[in-house]
Amino acid sequence: MLKLNRRIAAIKPSATLAADARATEMKLAGIDVISLAAGEPDFDTPEHIKKAADKALAAGQTKYTAVGGTAALKNAIKLKLKRDNNLDYEPPEIIASAGCKQAEANVINALFDEGDEVIIPTPAWVSFAAMVSLSGAEPKFVPCSEESGFMLEPEALRRAITTRTRGIMLNSPSNPTGAVYGPEQLTAIARVLVDTDIWVMSDDVYEHIAYGEFAPHLFHIEPRLKSHGIVFNSLSKTYAMTGWRIGFAAGPKEAIAAAGRLQSQNSGNPNSITQAAAIEALTGPQDALKPMLEAFRERNALVVERVRRIPGFRLPNIPQGAFYAFPNVSELLGSRFGDKQITDGDTLAAFILDEAHVSLVGGNDFGAPEHVRLSYATSVKNLNEAFDRIERAVAKLKR
Ligand code: GLU
Repeated sequence: MLKLNRRIAAIKPSATLAADARATEMKLAGIDVISLAAGEPDFDTPEHIKKAADKALAAGQTKYTAVGGTAALKNAIKLKLKRDNNLDYEPPEIIASAGCKQAEANVINALFDEGDEVIIPTPAWVSFAAMVSLSGAEPKFVPCSEESGFMLEPEALRRAITTRTRGIMLNSPSNPTGAVYGPEQLTAIARVLVDTDIWVMSDDVYEHIAYGEFAPHLFHIEPRLKSHGIVFNSLSKTYAMTGWRIGFAAGPKEAIAAAGRLQSQNSGNPNSITQAAAIEALTGPQDALKPMLEAFRERNALVVERVRRIPGFRLPNIPQGAFYAFPNVSELLGSRFGDKQITDGDTLAAFILDEAHVSLVGGNDFGAPEHVRLSYATSVKNLNEAFDRIERAVAKLKR
């Protein structure tokens, strides 16, 4: 067997991207698959953003830039953090990367080491744990109950902290549960973390896809967290720019500089044309956001209604943000169809893909094996068709 680096050998491919890749493969083979797998808005990138990229290309902005992004992009990010989050960051405290994923991986690698623990409230996005393990640190999962609406409870957080705890990854609105922390919950969490030296990482990529009031930022609520806090964000979801790969981190300048050194050795600057488009996205008209949010809101209502009608699917919470529903499917565990037995969310997702040609992501790698995740970043027509198919497939399962 090929001998690999120990840490790489231990990780699996991203479950979300793997599910999406399987759906794409089946589509290429001529199968009519509806993908509710990838967390990817189905909208096109707004025209003015694409035009900014055209302009940059025509102007020959095709060379290396500063590793952590151009001065103009860092200023645009600074402006965004002030405008949307009421947070003050200067350019040396900001790094742009090829997607929020790269920003997170770089910062996590820069900050943590073997022997460290990083708290991950679960259910959590599949890549957090892998990123932490790759840094040599250990993910410490803290389950968040259905009764709490999948929110981290301050007492559970307090209990999870040990002398080895060096970081925590928070994500609101949450992928995969759609849970959104309100100001009171953020205040309670801040209270536990403020007098520690734990790195508080806040993944805000779904901030603009929230169906209630726009929540204040954790670091605005408790500004003292900023000295050991990192903000992560992306343009992927807000501006429908997944393929452009642009995200960023902001935090204390020594931490950002360390992430920058890693980026300078590993990859270099994010794509120069993408950076020009990102400046326009962040500083140009923001009016494309509202219709996208309204579309997600309409789909959210539809999905809640349809998921609840599927026998064996139970929706513990109404997603308040992001574009995912995370039903509990434990009632279906142990059922079978032919030689296929449903033992967890992953086997159910595989069964639904085979039988219904609808792609979901099983809950296992989100730390919730009794669940499946479905993304409603697709049209109402696709959603209705997908639910009809899922209902028919699930009806075939026998106890
Ligand atoms: N974050 C999105 C998701 O969960 C995109 C895919 C990925 O990078 O995981 O589906």
